Amino acid sequence: MGNGKDASIPPKEENTRLKKLVCCSKCQVNYKSALFRPCCHLSMCMICAFGLEYCPECNSTIEEIIKSATTHV
Ligand SMILES: [Zn+2]
Ligand SMILES: [Zn+2]
Repeated sequence: MGNGKDASIPPKEENTRLKKLVCCSKCQVNYKSALFRPCCHLSMCMICAFGLEYCPECNSTIEEIIKSATTHV
């Protein structure tokens, strides 16, 4: 058993990984668009970020949430 042909990543898995990079870490549906200030982390959409007091990435106090037009890919 075993033909040693499992080195390549299935396209589906690659797609999931890419989606994680650009999609909101909470709902994973919307694109990341909420830029936290002053720490400048971008990991959630505006909907999920609404009302947050602390950044989920670094636990800094969020003083302001800026709507980011572009996503970091
Ligand atoms: Zn979200
Ligand atoms: Zn942060």
